[in-house]
Amino acid sequence: MIIAEQKPVNEILKNIPENSRLLIVGCDTCVTVCLAGGEKEVAVLSSVISMSDKKMKSIEGTSIERQCDKEFLSEIKDRVSECDIILSMACGVGVQMMSDYYNGKIVLPALNTLFMGSNEETGYWLERCLGCGDCSLDITGGICPKTRCSKGLMNGPCGGSEGGKCEVDPENLDCGWNLIYNRLKELNRLDTMAAIQPPRDWSKSHDGGPRRIIREDLLL
Ligand code: SF4
Ligand code: SF4
Repeated sequence: MIIAEQKPVNEILKNIPENSRLLIVGCDTCVTVCLAGGEKEVAVLSSVISMSDKKMKSIEGTSIERQCDKEFLSEIKDRVSECDIILSMACGVGVQMMSDYYNGKIVLPALNTLFMGSNEETGYWLERCLGCGDCSLDITGGICPKTRCSKGLMNGPCGGSEGGKCEVDPENLDCGWNLIYNRLKELNRLDTMAAIQPPRDWSKSHDGGPRRIIREDLLL
């Protein structure tokens, strides 16, 4: 899922003109799970803004299933028609979709979108995928070298790996390639590590503009 965290309240407030009719919109999917932008966070942020020095004409709050999907954005059109500013508590995709869909409105982001990751335990989320477009989990025992190795090496470990830790932060960071080694050993697949892997294929990354998937069989 997409992991995000709330921007500092001062930064959020800085961009909202005084006496606005504000509509805060949460998203019930990824950002709800990472406790950044769901229904509960909408309620908390509404209270914080209403108690701040910046006076609003009105503050309304709501949340929809997914802000990255037009189908759900249409559900709030009546409420949007009565506001001046939409403060979106979705990830960057949701904010952009909201902005496209309600293009006459100012849409502001309340979150910083961070990464694609896992819910490890309460209060701990870990980056697991860069969306590189050229997945190599088949040769690394299901552990991503591009995110788990600090240098994104395709062949590892490097000389900075010691005692299973990465030289970038030996206190807190496991060496990704040590994790890969242990996993492949467990799977009796260490031979895959002996083969030199070619450099990653950047042509499938985002460097050439936004990536798209178009399924002709699904287009109407
Ligand atoms: S190899 Fe690429 S697609 Fe696969 S998990 Fe890592 S970043 Fe994601
Ligand atoms: S120590 Fe391990 S995780 Fe750190 S850069 Fe080297 S191979 Fe990557």
